[in-house]
Amino acid sequence: MSELTLPKLNKFTISNRLEIINKLKKIINPENVLSENEEMKPYETDALSAYKQMPLAVILPENTQEVSAVLKYCNKENIKVIPRGAGTGLSGGALPLQDAILLGLGKFNKILEIDFDNKCVVAQPGVTNLSITHSVQDKGFYYAPDPSSQLACSIGGNVAENSGGVHSLKYGTTTNNILGLEIVLMDGTICNIGGKTLDQ
Ligand SMILES: Cc1cc2nc3c(=O)[nH]c(=O)nc-3n(C[C@H](O)[C@H](O)[C@H](O)COP(=O)(O)OP(=O)(O)OC[C@H]3O[C@@H](n4cnc5c(N)ncnc54)[C@H](O)[C@@H]3O)c2cc1C
Repeated sequence: MSELTLPKLNKFTISNRLEIINKLKKIINPENVLSENEEMKPYETDALSAYKQMPLAVILPENTQEVSAVLKYCNKENIKVIPRGAGTGLSGGALPLQDAILLGLGKFNKILEIDFDNKCVVAQPGVTNLSITHSVQDKGFYYAPDPSSQLACSIGGNVAENSGGVHSLKYGTTTNNILGLEIVLMDGTICNIGGKTLDQ
């Protein structure tokens, strides 16, 4: 197996770890900032488990405004941020880095709306793929892109990886099944693209 080349460590960030953690605890609920090794252990790798390291800190924001405020701060201070859904990715996208904040989306776990007229569901990014099917199957619907990790993987991770499964042969992968997104850019800007219907 060839070795992954990890990004160069930012020693300045590591030396400022305590200050960064204190600042993060002022931006979001301090209980949602994890910095002890025992607390961060579950986040030390994703499904590419040959690679492991403790992140600088793990944060578990509860709303979009908190994500925006954290990204704005990290962007200004040149601190790396790694988003994480369920950590089932096989390409190392959610692998932590010693000098990076791991941004866990696990608290974004709600389905906000089920709209049968427009055949769409509005879901937060941490909702699991299979939950979307479970929420509509009593009316004979299902969410088509079905990775075999669907019990665990999150819809946010599916979007980032353009995931698919057996049904993708007929209905396409994630990109063919997403109508709209709310996105927080790395500078904290909140953008909305698309909507409940196809582009005209
Ligand atoms: C047993 C097993 C079977 C699998 N089968 C399939 C399969 O059939 N088809 C398939 O396509 N994949 C499969 N996968 C891979 C994996 O499940 C998918 O890539 C899945 O989409 C990852 O989702 P996740 O929530 O675990 O994302 P993570 O692993 O947490 O993250 C994946 C990437 O997405 C980014 N990310 C996650 N959430 C967000 C967010 N909210 N905003 C911005 N970026 C985000 C992360 O930074 C990372 O780069 C499988 C994995 C396993 C372990």
